Amino acid sequence: MEKKLNQRRDPIVYSQELQYSVVVPLYNEELVIHETYKRLKSVMDSTGESYEIIFVNDGSRDKTLEIARSLCREDKSIKLLGFSRNFGHQVAITAGMDYAGGKAVIVIDADLQDPPEVILKMIEKWKEGYEVVYGRRIKRMGETFLKKATAAVFYRVLKSMTSVDIPVDTGDFRLIDRKVCDALKSIPERNRYVRGLISWLGFKQTGVEFVREERFAGETKYPLKKMVKFAADAITSFSYKPLKIATYAGTVLSLSSFAYLLFLLEKLFTRRPVAGWAPAVTLCLLCNGLLFILLGIIGEYVGRIYDEAKGRPLYIIDEKEGF
Ligand code: UDP
Ligand code: MG
Repeated sequence: MEKKLNQRRDPIVYSQELQYSVVVPLYNEELVIHETYKRLKSVMDSTGESYEIIFVNDGSRDKTLEIARSLCREDKSIKLLGFSRNFGHQVAITAGMDYAGGKAVIVIDADLQDPPEVILKMIEKWKEGYEVVYGRRIKRMGETFLKKATAAVFYRVLKSMTSVDIPVDTGDFRLIDRKVCDALKSIPERNRYVRGLISWLGFKQTGVEFVREERFAGETKYPLKKMVKFAADAITSFSYKPLKIATYAGTVLSLSSFAYLLFLLEKLFTRRPVAGWAPAVTLCLLCNGLLFILLGIIGEYVGRIYDEAKGRPLYIIDEKEGF
């Protein structure tokens, strides 16, 4: 077990001096990275304390890596992790946290939808003694109706399905204390829903409200397919309820087919048997359809168990600069 965890730890990055680490996942963000850097830098400079900004390039296919590399060479407070391919947003955040050396670690999206200025409010709360300060979106600008509606439903469905208290309408934009970051490193889980894991860890948590801005430039890197995978990861890692659907549906079906059987028997004994095969075929199709759905749900869990069993590292780093 310890060996598996060590794969994600880096023994050299710890610096007792460093106050803040800002983790920024990047996937095809060539249009925003300069502006993000500027805004983040001015916010972090205004704290008057030491900080590092960790750019995690998640296998971008555009110029993101080159730009990040040159920023890193110009500015010593910037560090760069480059993945060997696209591993996904949640994994990119995890890598950034694994390598962060600050006493508080801040995770922020690269597209300026999470305003960097909110970090100052988070830091205030952290200084008051909170160990996790998450950003709660009270309004989302410039996002499609579909995105807002599915997000609103998703957070509420997830909440109703799990006993872990995962705050609704919060993204990964948050500040966590060094303690929480270290605890998170001890979770080797593969299909990760990071914000849920942070809630699961406990500690003293609070939120600050903010308005989610429009994307500064470029387009969303979360197409429907990735959103579905993301939601499935969240639900399967935090709830067994979908598996229980089989039990409930099975009970309802058995009871109703038993009642139907009684009805047929009664017809038989009163010598008025029910004619035709349409009801039988309909019932058969219905039950088969249901069975396939249930098998699919079980498959979602089995696939994830398989991922865990293989025990592959969470990510592969191709390039490291500034560490
Ligand atoms: N991202 C990533 N890997 C991916 C997809 C996204 O690192 O496979 C990053 C992306 O560059 C951004 C953040 O995750 O910094 C959030 O993505 P995006 O803004 O596209 O998502 P949305 O805000 O539309 O949900
Ligand atoms: Mg965004």
